[in-house]
Amino acid sequence: MARKRKRSMTDDRVNSLKKTKPNLTAQANQTNQPELNQTTSQKKIENAWASCEIASPIPCSGNNIINMDKLQDGISQAALCRHCKAGELVLSQNAGAREGWAVVMRLTCTNCGIVTSFNSSHNLPGSRSKEVNRAMNLGMRSIGRGNSAATTLAAILQLPPPIGRKPWSKHTQTILSQVHDVSDTARLQVARRLKRQLIKEGSVPGTKADDADKTDSFIDSLTVDVAVSFDGSWKNRGFSSHHCIVAAIAQETGEILDAEYICNLCRECTDNSMDKNSDEYINWIVEHTPNCPRNFSGSSQAMESEGVRRLYERSEDTKLRYTVFVGDGDSKSFLSVTKAKPYDVPIVKEECVGHVKKRMGTRLRRLLNRMAGMYFYNIGVP
Ligand SMILES: [Zn+2]
Ligand SMILES: [Zn+2]
Repeated sequence: MARKRKRSMTDDRVNSLKKTKPNLTAQANQTNQPELNQTTSQKKIENAWASCEIASPIPCSGNNIINMDKLQDGISQAALCRHCKAGELVLSQNAGAREGWAVVMRLTCTNCGIVTSFNSSHNLPGSRSKEVNRAMNLGMRSIGRGNSAATTLAAILQLPPPIGRKPWSKHTQTILSQVHDVSDTARLQVARRLKRQLIKEGSVPGTKADDADKTDSFIDSLTVDVAVSFDGSWKNRGFSSHHCIVAAIAQETGEILDAEYICNLCRECTDNSMDKNSDEYINWIVEHTPNCPRNFSGSSQAMESEGVRRLYERSEDTKLRYTVFVGDGDSKSFLSVTKAKPYDVPIVKEECVGHVKKRMGTRLRRLLNRMAGMYFYNIGVP
């Protein structure tokens, strides 16, 4: 178990130093004495202050996990009611107004009874949804977990439970649509960069090098033929994975032009035991289908070629034609593309030198291991 880092001084000493420091400064200002005239004790305290871990406090921003008792202690020690200037402030929560991790806090004066309420989270811009709940959803989604995992995490950290499944799902849908928007914009920008580079290099028939600096709408209107390589990545090795991402990579810029997620399994669909002819099932499937992650019915091996085919089909959205297919030695994807005939111009295949080199290298190393210790009589090499 990791040992706790030794602090240079206890909290109490730090607090006392914090109180001492302004006094020292004030004294120095009053007497206008240089630091050299400080007493030994003052110097010791100043040095300790300089080496103190919290010598440079940073302003509070973002979120933090705070123990409510500690927060109450801090408020009780530091604050009095600003209305009556006499009562202490007692912290409580408005249980009925909680939205997941966004809590309505109340500070009640023990003397005049005036209550000050505030929410523990900001609203999202132009929305009544709370920032912390959206961030929680995005965070859990980013590590591949959902609402149940968030509930477990919250329980262990003694936090309020996260928002319910329905609002959770709404946040997911909103994030998904925003991801799509960002991805569409990014695809367009990457395509523009690639087109400008090819125009500059003189590789786009009917254009001059100067055209590369023309407006975005001019660039967007041009249909350009490009060389692209494709790569599939599975969640697990060994072709048993149900999740795959296929990316199209521009040979000229090395940037990802587009990507497609392929999934051949939905737990909700396979675990559903309802009668397929019942009204209950029909209602469920109508609601579930738009959110069903399964978008392919073939095997894991067939995912990459299916992804490549889909990428070809929508490549002309950004006016790019992947007319040179740079292969990685797997011919299935190229076959599926030539079968689909996405363009009215031919698609040619070129082998990637890097992949050929990699395969050659692997085989040569294997050969070397197999032949280790053998003597080549015919050429006289030991
Ligand atoms: Zn008061
Ligand atoms: Zn499903």
